Amino acid sequence: MTSAGPDGQPRQIMSVSLKDQVLAGLRAGLLKGDFKPGKIYKMGEVGEQFGASRTPVREAVLELESRGVVEIIRSVGFRVTEPTPDDIQDMWEVRAIVEVPAMESLSGRLDDSTLAKLWSLIDDVEKAARSDDLASYLAKDAQLHDALYEELSNRHLAATIRDLRDSQRVPSLGARRASSDLIARNEEHRALVAAIASGDTEKIHNLTRAHLLVNYHKWQSQSDHRD
Ligand SMILES: [Zn+2]
Repeated sequence: MTSAGPDGQPRQIMSVSLKDQVLAGLRAGLLKGDFKPGKIYKMGEVGEQFGASRTPVREAVLELESRGVVEIIRSVGFRVTEPTPDDIQDMWEVRAIVEVPAMESLSGRLDDSTLAKLWSLIDDVEKAARSDDLASYLAKDAQLHDALYEELSNRHLAATIRDLRDSQRVPSLGARRASSDLIARNEEHRALVAAIASGDTEKIHNLTRAHLLVNYHKWQSQSDHRD
């Protein structure tokens, strides 16, 4: 995976982690609505925003392009693509079909150190919710869900779920939300991880559906695109 740089040091480690940092920042920004569909963003400007050079930005943007989230415009930058309301609606259905059994498959299967990591991530989400910091809340929430997907024995399933969530980017979810609302969402995380720990598959089923549906109904009620 790593190749030696001119000085004989492995050079990919730093570039991979920088790319991942930029990717995480871009994903959080997309979820929050900082990057507007249709608008063109320059690689250099985005790099400045994240304190990174063009290379990791380009690598992160290429990955988002492979997921259909952005479109690269040669020697200009990239444009954020916009999912249609039908796309978003269809993706909720796929997410429910895929994500509910995926979470059920974790039932009673996680070891103590994994559970400890999840509880600590939930505490991070709580901190972000209490400080009313939406950007940090969305980033920590994504980190927590990613940590759950990482435990899936099927890597393709994990990648599918991540891609769906990233391409969906429901715009209304980036709208201002009350701190109490964010804290309530985090209580759902606590209940979910507790159900996974105790092996209560039925509860995992209901909680995962509910966690997805809250966002779906919120999107539906705020969306004036559909009749
Ligand atoms: Zn969540």
